[in-house]
Amino acid sequence: MIDLGQAGDADQAGDTGALSLPLLPTTVVGSHGIPGWLHVARGAVTRGEFGPADLEELYADATKLAIDDQERAGIDVLSDGEMRRLHFVQGFYGRLHGLEPLPVARKLGSPGYDMVPQFRAVERITLRAPDDVDDARLSRAEGLGIAEEFTFARTLTSRPLKVTSPGPLMFALQIAPDGGPYEDRFEIAEDLAKIVNTELHRAVDAGARIVQLDDPSFSFHRSGSDAVFTPAAAAPDEGRGPGGHGGREGEPEAPPAAELARLYNLAVAGLRERGVKLLLHLCFGNFHARPRTARSYRTLFPGVLDARCDQFVLEFSGREMAEADLWRELEIDRELGAGVVDIKSFYPETPEQVAVRIRRLLESVAVEKLWLNPDCGFNHSARWVCAAKLNALVQGARIVRQEVTS
Ligand SMILES: [Zn+2]
Repeated sequence: MIDLGQAGDADQAGDTGALSLPLLPTTVVGSHGIPGWLHVARGAVTRGEFGPADLEELYADATKLAIDDQERAGIDVLSDGEMRRLHFVQGFYGRLHGLEPLPVARKLGSPGYDMVPQFRAVERITLRAPDDVDDARLSRAEGLGIAEEFTFARTLTSRPLKVTSPGPLMFALQIAPDGGPYEDRFEIAEDLAKIVNTELHRAVDAGARIVQLDDPSFSFHRSGSDAVFTPAAAAPDEGRGPGGHGGREGEPEAPPAAELARLYNLAVAGLRERGVKLLLHLCFGNFHARPRTARSYRTLFPGVLDARCDQFVLEFSGREMAEADLWRELEIDRELGAGVVDIKSFYPETPEQVAVRIRRLLESVAVEKLWLNPDCGFNHSARWVCAAKLNALVQGARIVRQEVTS
């Protein structure tokens, strides 16, 4: 069993005390499969057919289902399913002051990263007061609302809960500095890191002890460049060197991974001192199950080890276990949360297929350092596929757990 220790404030908030987890703990990355009726209801909300009490009931019901699905599957560390969020990071922009929407590059055809809403910063970015939030789909909450998500989920389960937040670069990726008070996107990310940090401390006040930042943009961010939004920039990053340097010819260089880690550290400042376990999810994008870039972590390591996280949460299954040897190769002693089900595929893996992946990872990672999760969130997966994959994840973990302990 793994003892995660105590967080002082967690006990005051009535949390369940020390967390005891089995070997090879299972968890999720964050978002759960969205129920069909929630898609329908969101349309009705947008048309003004819901009052605040209706909205709260809607999101409460969806969260109960997400937690129930995870508990039934037997997941060890749950999330709230991110049911109150809109398309991962999108809903959070409605809680920020200082942004102006930009025209969307493309509205027709197959889903792509050029369809995602973009903004420009016209003033320094701050949080809106709850009464100033005018997107009817967003629940009333202070700050980013993440602490409130945790507080509600805490009432629904006695299992350990993971708090997830988009990382500062993920937020900044959709905010252009054009003509505003910021020099570049990294300066924007610094302000956002402070906003995220404040929110995470609120979540810890409410009892959270496991915090994960999601920064898929770590793998494709380019310094100060709008090129990330152009068709050219969505092409594979061939030619990028170690540490994330070197875009294609004529593009600004991507910053060293260590600089990206610095922003992570700003966003989680002071959390470890409060007894919080820190995770960092890095992936290659999952918009409508499409990755955004060439899928290799080699451009990020070892520089990204400067991020003061206890665990990296990475995707492997959708890449047919490519780079499963990374931990041994680079002698990394941090925990690895490894993706052992592929959220981009439509078929549910069998438990034995999952077990094969876990055994492959154990050739490189010490068993006590390995956690098991899906490659990424399930918000672009059918809910039944999500539930089936969570089952396979838990059953596959049980097979290997038995092998290594017998
Ligand atoms: Zn992801």
